[in-house]
Amino acid sequence: MKAIQATWLLAATALATTLAASPAMAQDDDSCQLTIEGNDQMQFNQDAMSVPAGCDEVTVTLEHTGQMQASVMGHNWVLSETSDVQDVAQAGMSTSLESDYLPADDDRVLAATDVIGGGESTSVTFSTEGLAGRDLTFFCSFPGHSSIMKGTFTVEG
Ligand code: ZN
Repeated sequence: MKAIQATWLLAATALATTLAASPAMAQDDDSCQLTIEGNDQMQFNQDAMSVPAGCDEVTVTLEHTGQMQASVMGHNWVLSETSDVQDVAQAGMSTSLESDYLPADDDRVLAATDVIGGGESTSVTFSTEGLAGRDLTFFCSFPGHSSIMKGTFTVEG
């Protein structure tokens, strides 16, 4: 009797290990994790980003590959409806570095990272719910940067 129980336990353990190792059903692979770089020349290294509609959540990591401080050449990654970008950037300009140059509790800001300086990195994770098919733009809200540091963001639907 004892031997049979031991065999069953071993089989159950093997099954559990197999289940844990199998890929999850939802799309949570690398395609839902995006990385973008900003530099001391006030540039992002991409002007278009996209994720598959299967991503419930997206994580965007921003890496500042320059050396200048956040107070001088700070960058963040902000997502808004394209038609809201100019107004959000304008509103952010009258705030401060401590506020990440963004208006507080503003629904037009769909996602945003902190403002970082050279050598730093930061990330934001957000839900894609309701974003598929919308005309979205990512940009840096540091004063004066959004006219150059921007690009399209697409949730493929
Ligand atoms: Zn910037």
